[in-house]
Amino acid sequence: MAVELKDFEIEFIKFKDGIHTLSFQLCSDFFQLFEKSSLDSGNLNATVIFEKKTQLLDFDMKVMGNVGLFCDRCLTKNNYPIEGKLNLHVKITENIGEEEEDLTYILPSEHSFNIAGYLYEIINLAIPMRKTCEDIGEKCDESVLEKLNKIAVDKEGDENKEQNPEWDKLKDILNNLK
Ligand SMILES: [Zn+2]
Repeated sequence: MAVELKDFEIEFIKFKDGIHTLSFQLCSDFFQLFEKSSLDSGNLNATVIFEKKTQLLDFDMKVMGNVGLFCDRCLTKNNYPIEGKLNLHVKITENIGEEEEDLTYILPSEHSFNIAGYLYEIINLAIPMRKTCEDIGEKCDESVLEKLNKIAVDKEGDENKEQNPEWDKLKDILNNLK
C-alpha cells in the first residue's frame, strides 16, 4: 500500500507529556507525495523523537538510508548513502510568529502536526553536491563517457570550422593595413 501524507500526521493530542519515539520507513513512493520532486527512489529510515511539553513540541528527526541519484559524469543512476537530521521546535500559541529553519508555530486548536515535508527537506539537504560512480566504489559507464567526449570534440570541431573563415578575413584585413 502506498504511503499517504496522513501517515506522517502526528496526533500529539493523543500523546502524554514526555518523550516519545516514532519510526518511519521511507521508500520510493514517499517521493511521490511531493510535486516536482527531483528524487524518485530510495530506501530510508526516519527516527523521530519528540517531546511533548506544555505549548511546545520538540522534534529531533534523523533520516538515514540511501537515495537514487544520477552520476555527474556518466549519468548512471546509483544508490548513494545519505544521513541528515533536524531539530525542530513547534510552538503552540495564538501568537503565530515568523517561521524559522528550526522553529514553527501552530494554533492551540490544532491537534496534529505533519512532518512529511520536514523529512523530505532533511533528505534534500543531505544530498551531496557532487556525486560520481567512484564515490560508491563503482566505475563510470565508459560507453557513455566516450559518447559524451565525442559530442564535446565534434562541437569543438564545428566551432573551429565556423571561426576559420572569419579569422581568415580578419587576417586579410590586417595584412592589407600593413
Ligand atoms: Zn558515473
